[in-house]
Amino acid sequence: MAEIAIKSVAKSFGAFRALQSIDLTIADQEFMVLLGASGCGKTTLLRIIAGLETPTEGEVWIGGRRVDRLPPRERGIAMVFQNYAVFPHLTVFENIAFGLRMKKLPQAEVVRRVNGTAELMHIEQLLKRYSGQLSGGQRQRVAVARALAMEPDVILMDEPLSNLDALLRLEMRAELKGVLAGSKTTTVYVTHDQVEAMSLADRISVMNGGRIVQAASPVEVYRNPAARFVGSFIGSPPMNFLPATRASDGRYQVAGLSLPGPAGVGQLLEFAIRPEDLSMAPGGLSAVARVVEPLGAHTLVTTEVDGALFRAVLDSDVRISPGDELSLLPKPDRVRWFHPESGNAVV
Ligand code: ATP
Repeated sequence: MAEIAIKSVAKSFGAFRALQSIDLTIADQEFMVLLGASGCGKTTLLRIIAGLETPTEGEVWIGGRRVDRLPPRERGIAMVFQNYAVFPHLTVFENIAFGLRMKKLPQAEVVRRVNGTAELMHIEQLLKRYSGQLSGGQRQRVAVARALAMEPDVILMDEPLSNLDALLRLEMRAELKGVLAGSKTTTVYVTHDQVEAMSLADRISVMNGGRIVQAASPVEVYRNPAARFVGSFIGSPPMNFLPATRASDGRYQVAGLSLPGPAGVGQLLEFAIRPEDLSMAPGGLSAVARVVEPLGAHTLVTTEVDGALFRAVLDSDVRISPGDELSLLPKPDRVRWFHPESGNAVV
């Protein structure tokens, strides 16, 4: 059992508060992704779990043990970093064996584990090579194999694929997902890449300004953002927002369109819809096409609605030119509402 519990954890660097009060429980064997823009505090939180940073306030528990005052080696964790930290002057075998030798495991056990994880990561043919001679993707595999060989309760990964080219990233992403799904470890994975987050995570913690804004499954985070920030950070292109005013009939006016909305939450709200939840049909929002980008499977149309930028992902068969007037109909069950001041979702 390696549930991770982060209780009211805060971190300050001098006067700068990098993490506000963070509460997060990561279930045993869960794959949790910490996602957010640069500087939001993801790496700091990961380093606090690892024991490479001490929290200013709060507690960290792993597998029912309080660990925030324990050194990293006593926490039952293994780490994979962006820069791999693979030793170039050691063979692949010795790199994978490194932590096992530190733990003074018997040679037979070292050999068993190195061979097992090398096979899992498809690098068994590289075991005798020096790591300095490997490609980036191969070194990345070695780094993951070295972490897995420790048979840790928890694996912490900080942007482990960010040094790889796009194709290799895609390949390694699928591989990591397969390997980690089959292992019994709890994984915490830091990335700023939302596609990576969506594809790997059981749950995503979306971070902003040292806080977790939402921790939920990828589908939930995408479909039901807890805050405007989440809707605008996740999704490419991001969610569209327009001001909405409640009329005397209780419906909301959105750029001249009258829509049913939530009752009893105020006069002004923000209407939100994802670009792919719009279709060209009469009775929709009046939009003027500005930029038309055929993307193969779909066409991305950037429009203006009531002076605001508004995007629609439409069928690639549509024929639209800049300057055309369009009627964009939102799918009723995909409309979301936010409080304009707090930015929180209306629930
Ligand atoms: P990135 O994706 O760029 O790594 P991040 O979300 O992981 O960003 P952190 O590295 O956790 O962000 O940093 C959070 C904030 O804390 C940043 O503003 C950073 O400058 C600051 N910070 C991190 N470590 C230190 C430190 N040792 N001393 C001072 N400030 C720090």
